[in-house]
Amino acid sequence: MTRILLLGGTTEAGLLAHALAEAGLDAVYSYAGRTGAPLPQPLPQRIGGFGGIEGLVGYLQAEAISHVIDATHPFAAGISRNAAQACTTTGIPLVTLQRPPWQAGPQDRWTHVADLDACLAALPTRPARIFLAIGRQTLAAFAAHPQHFYLLRLVDAPAALPLPQCNAVIARGPFAVEGDLDLLKTHRIDLIVAKNSGGDGASAKLTAARSLGLPVILIDRPVQTDRPVLGSVAEVMAWLGHAALRGV
Ligand code: NAP
Repeated sequence: MTRILLLGGTTEAGLLAHALAEAGLDAVYSYAGRTGAPLPQPLPQRIGGFGGIEGLVGYLQAEAISHVIDATHPFAAGISRNAAQACTTTGIPLVTLQRPPWQAGPQDRWTHVADLDACLAALPTRPARIFLAIGRQTLAAFAAHPQHFYLLRLVDAPAALPLPQCNAVIARGPFAVEGDLDLLKTHRIDLIVAKNSGGDGASAKLTAARSLGLPVILIDRPVQTDRPVLGSVAEVMAWLGHAALRGV
């Protein structure tokens, strides 16, 4: 019997959820519960952590899961590691659905850095106006560089922000180039810091940066070598042994 655990929280996970539902497959969509109002999905949902590797092993066994699909964000390394360990322990097949990273074009002024520490080291010393497009979780690290103004874009309004000079825009993607051009101009941004998430939903800021000639510091994604990584919903459906649906 096929019963799928879909680890979600991304645009790709939503697309896959629709394909699984339309194919009539038995699947559960799992959210970490990081945002106040997660988008509804066309599958039964569960919300919240499993309790580490042990908790996930217990869940997989109790729910008689036959396949795990890790469609979490490329930077969600903890849950991806846990999924790999839990699937090894239980012998359940695991696959990752992940969009490819963004690639610089000739007009882009990108500096690639390996991780957050390298990103902090690459910040300028002179005060800059930075669009810090990295989500909420690692903002506090930038407090060590208080000379900069930081523009943040967050899904939920924060209770408090760990940065002395900042402004938070509350918005959920996908974002459009025109809106991001406006944002960069209105806040007189001179540098963008972003994760190399890939995909279309958050690439508008890079297109806007290109057209304004702005530099970007792009943090590389953590590497996953412990499972097959597939780039499309169609490939995941084929991996499950189901023909991909047209238009997905
Ligand atoms: P993480 O560091 O890899 O995960 C931390 C813990 O959160 C995990 O150990 C797990 O708790 C729980 N968790 C994460 N994803 C889960 C899921 N889909 N279902 C159930 N539990 C989950 O992840 P993160 O970077 O905090 O990201 C959390 C979620 O937000 C992910 O699902 C990801 O897809 C989404 N997201 C992340 C980013 C990003 O930049 N990191 C951006 C956009 C969306 P237990 O150990 O208790 O099981």
